[in-house]
Amino acid sequence: HTAARVAPPCGEGEGESKTVAVIGGGLAGLACAKYLVDAGASESCLWMPRGHKPVVLEARDRLGGKVSAWQDEDGDWIETGLHIFFGAYPNMMNLFSELDIEERLQWKRHQMIFAMQELPGEFTTFDFLEGIPAPFNFGLSILLNQKMLTLPEKLQCAPALLPMLIEGQKFIDLQDERSTLEFMEKYGMPDRINTEVFIAMAKALDFIDPDKLSMTVVLTAMNRQVHDEGWLLQGNQTLRLCEPLKEYIEARGGEIRCGVPLDSIVTEEDGSVKHFLMRGGEVVTADEYVTTVPCDIMRRILPRAWSTMPFFRQIDQLEGIPVINIHLWFDRKLLNVNHLCFSRSPLLSVYADMSTCCKEYYDEDKSMLELVFAPCSPLAGGSVNWIAKSDEEIVEATMTELERLFPTEIGSHLPGGGAKLRKHAVVKVPRSVYAAIPGRNKYRPSQETPIKNFTLSGDWTSQKFLGSMEGAVLSGKLAAEVIACKAAGQPTQGLKEIEPHILSQSFEPRDP
Ligand code: FAD
Repeated sequence: HTAARVAPPCGEGEGESKTVAVIGGGLAGLACAKYLVDAGASESCLWMPRGHKPVVLEARDRLGGKVSAWQDEDGDWIETGLHIFFGAYPNMMNLFSELDIEERLQWKRHQMIFAMQELPGEFTTFDFLEGIPAPFNFGLSILLNQKMLTLPEKLQCAPALLPMLIEGQKFIDLQDERSTLEFMEKYGMPDRINTEVFIAMAKALDFIDPDKLSMTVVLTAMNRQVHDEGWLLQGNQTLRLCEPLKEYIEARGGEIRCGVPLDSIVTEEDGSVKHFLMRGGEVVTADEYVTTVPCDIMRRILPRAWSTMPFFRQIDQLEGIPVINIHLWFDRKLLNVNHLCFSRSPLLSVYADMSTCCKEYYDEDKSMLELVFAPCSPLAGGSVNWIAKSDEEIVEATMTELERLFPTEIGSHLPGGGAKLRKHAVVKVPRSVYAAIPGRNKYRPSQETPIKNFTLSGDWTSQKFLGSMEGAVLSGKLAAEVIACKAAGQPTQGLKEIEPHILSQSFEPRDP
């Protein structure tokens, strides 16, 4: 699936150049448009049509979706989420190299840094040794860490990890029916693996607790995602990634429009797309149509004519998970850790001092922490519906947690009252990545759909990575591939199989 078949070989059935309307200017929509303008275009073959002609239609006034960022009245950047790129994101790394912007990634040492639960203010690391392939490097990093688990506890993990080493991805995929806790119980893993490692990983990977999270997600991360070094972008993604994508697409005949929300997908008698109706009344027609909106929005806008089709009703099984991203500006510098940290606090997931980690936000004197607050609703495993609380309540709860994480720097018990919070920004994402609870993978639909001129994309659609930036880019590339192959008269990968119990149901028609 990672194969970049998007540009058909020069001279071989290049087909016509198609106009393509793409809804959503997040990473999936922008990647889809980028590979559409690339498809069929070849520097060594200038007589060929220069790719397809996408127009990206984004509802908001800025690009990026879940990676979007904007400036407050002081000019400080507010990001939708703290994002880490992994070297093991092949499609994302290719994209950086194709856009010639690789220097914008800031390399971070290949390690995971955990706050010590019993020793507030102290950290311990899982160090990944160079040259050791995944998932052995993950196992070895746990083995080498002396502070978190005892040797018998480490050895008790071996029976659970052996089948993954022997059977590989097949074993990993089968674990989607089990939660992380169920998997641990089946393989007799000690409880402390959960409290020491899995809670932190589950919250970082899908913003939920391990009793909710599919074990496939944890194993996929061990096998694929964290097996290479991590990177942060030098600054906000809107300017440093989305803008170069926009320039690239526009320079090759594509169009990007913001502030144009889709109202509805209007269908023909035969169920194919007639046009996109935008909220302002504008009618957008094209040869091909793509949506890259999150699964919850796709369910809402599904046209009545498609609502009885099992392919689209798979989406009923998928749901976005809430998460909150917090920025805290302090009056002084806190602990100097130049890396992403796993907080291992009940309320918080990962965080980073961006004034130290990130070139654009660098400040020698004052810290700016960016923190992911999760789980933040009962759906995600928490007991409090934080997403419905006020910003002030969320910041207060976060500061209480930070007193524990930074005991020598934050707290009113300290002489002078400790570090003072200068200002804060809270970004709530009520529906972020799809909830990777057990048994969901099989319902993620392929990019190709049963509708002849409609293709789906978005991080939640079927691709071998989790709901992530890499997943979004790959899904956009796969959607472009479907359209490019159809235009060139080449075979596509086909529709993904639908579960028999969905196929056998009869669905009542539903209005959007
Ligand atoms: P989106 O970004 O949601 O894009 C969909 C777009 O569609 C949006 O721009 C939206 O405005 C638009 N849209 C919606 N409705 C309409 C409409 N009616 N008309 C027109 N446009 C519409 N991933 C990682 O790999 N690493 C990380 O460290 C990481 N951390 C994260 C932290 C947080 C707090 C969050 C929220 C996410 C994080 N992710 C991370 C996940 C990553 O951001 C997403 O998986 C990815 O950005 C999704 O891209 P997408 O294009 O599929 O969807």
